[in-house]
Amino acid sequence: MYPSRFRYEAPRSIAEAISLLREGGDEAKVLAGGQSLVPLMKLRFASPALIVDINNLPGLSYHQEDADGTIRIGALCRHVDLERSVLLKTKQPVMAAAAPLIADPIVRNRGTLVGSLCHADPQGDWASVVTALGGSVIASGPGGRRSIPIADFVTGPFENALAPDEIAIEAVIPPPKGTLTGGYLKLERRIGDFATVGVAAAVETSGDTVTRAGIALTGVGGSTISATEAGQALIGKPLTAESIAQAADLAAAAARPRTDHRGSAEYKRHMVRTFVVRILSRANGHPAGAGGVVGGVTPGQSANGEANTTAEGTA
Ligand SMILES: Cc1cc2nc3c(=O)[nH]c(=O)nc-3n(C[C@H](O)[C@H](O)[C@H](O)COP(=O)(O)OP(=O)(O)OC[C@H]3O[C@@H](n4cnc5c(N)ncnc54)[C@H](O)[C@@H]3O)c2cc1C
Repeated sequence: MYPSRFRYEAPRSIAEAISLLREGGDEAKVLAGGQSLVPLMKLRFASPALIVDINNLPGLSYHQEDADGTIRIGALCRHVDLERSVLLKTKQPVMAAAAPLIADPIVRNRGTLVGSLCHADPQGDWASVVTALGGSVIASGPGGRRSIPIADFVTGPFENALAPDEIAIEAVIPPPKGTLTGGYLKLERRIGDFATVGVAAAVETSGDTVTRAGIALTGVGGSTISATEAGQALIGKPLTAESIAQAADLAAAAARPRTDHRGSAEYKRHMVRTFVVRILSRANGHPAGAGGVVGGVTPGQSANGEANTTAEGTA
């Protein structure tokens, strides 16, 4: 099917883009990589009257590290840039593990991390990763810029906190205060598919003690789930088999999966538990940049999650 008719604008400055969005109100949509918006338009699930294509805006393709270790990802940084990033491979094991697992190479060439956060698909991988890392989104609108914590940014399935005349300029990942370990694991029916279950886990340690932990879940609820209690359970003690098992149980309890053609709710909850154990067990003793990355799995639908899976992405 073809999209319904729309007006197309390709502004060359953020101010111009914001002004166009203001003019278009609820009928306007930002176009970044187009990998989610265009399919929706072709199916006529979305019929915006105005498309504001931000691909001509200068200076938004970056991903970079500030002096204090903060990582910033611009609105036009593509998935492929993050997949190939030396910065992420050496500094950010959770993002480095997730980047190659987003869709397929064609989608990764155009799609953006910031666009994925804006799209707020419950099966989108980046929202879980950014949630586990305690990240935020910088929005720019007529009133200037504001920072929105990711927990407040994703307001529901396919809903975000942006006003109609705001553009998400960048995603921000705060610097770890200790040694960062963790990873992202994804159960998918075939390579390039959306997650049946995804788990992002980020753990910061000082000495042996966990000082911060974030665990977030993909595809097992109406929106991205922050398994806050699971993360909290790890703090203030070393990572042990016991503490990992406790966090895994709490994460599984936080999941809200539904039985569908991809598997039963019970199976998906079991996979959450399995993935938390697997990521944290591998992360334990492997600091970032020295083997802390846990990559994705491509499963046969094994009941216990152990058989027919392959791990990839070791840094
Ligand atoms: C075949 C296929 C498989 C896929 N598999 C996966 C997968 O496994 N995992 C996964 O996570 N994703 C997957 N995706 C989605 C893909 O990652 C998209 O790239 C991503 O969801 C959206 O990014 P985009 O830049 O393409 O955004 P667009 O499609 O351009 O926009 C998506 C939405 O976000 C809004 N938006 C985008 N950027 C901004 C901005 N800067 N400011 C304000 N609003 C903005 C748009 O208005 C639109 O509503 C898949 C897509 C396809 C087509």
